[in-house]
Amino acid sequence: MNLEQRIKEIIKDIPDFPKKGIVFKDITPILLHPELSKAVGNALAEHAKSLNIEAVCGIESRGFIYGSIIAQALDVPFILVRKQGKLPGDTIAYSYSLEYGTATIEVHSGDIPKGAKVLIHDDLLATGGTARAAGELVKRAGGEVAGYSFLVNLTFLNGKERLTSLTPNIFSLTNY
Ligand code: AMP
Repeated sequence: MNLEQRIKEIIKDIPDFPKKGIVFKDITPILLHPELSKAVGNALAEHAKSLNIEAVCGIESRGFIYGSIIAQALDVPFILVRKQGKLPGDTIAYSYSLEYGTATIEVHSGDIPKGAKVLIHDDLLATGGTARAAGELVKRAGGEVAGYSFLVNLTFLNGKERLTSLTPNIFSLTNY
């Protein structure tokens, strides 16, 4: 069985979470299998090596898990992209539209070195709204979006289309 097949066997589908009609893909069972989890981290880091990355941004909260692992493997800083009000220091913010209302994400000011090539990582790409906002935030903070990496891409939602104007480098380990 290849890595994608092994990941698909372990990821749990949770129907109607967090609301009716959504099938939530729970990646956390991967963490209960250290050998598989290590293979996932290695594969994501291997992809990132080809991009000459200077920093990794992880999107709250499941993007912190492998985002941090990728950054360690590449010997580059790991930077947290968090929901508004969670980071204790001075921040740079970016607001974006949701189905109902708006959301704001932040990074600590000064965390992203000026002009740094940044890889943005999250566990899952759905419509691409969150990843797009993280890309805009990285740019606002002075970084360059060098690529995206995801554990899972729900390809039928076409999230990739919202990211290609920022970078052509969009990688996902598992596709549905
Ligand atoms: P989107 O902005 O629509 O691409 O949604 C991506 C964000 O929402 C990521 O941080 C995901 O963790 C989470 N997410 C969206 N849809 C799902 C899903 N079906 N299963 C698990 N997480 C999801």
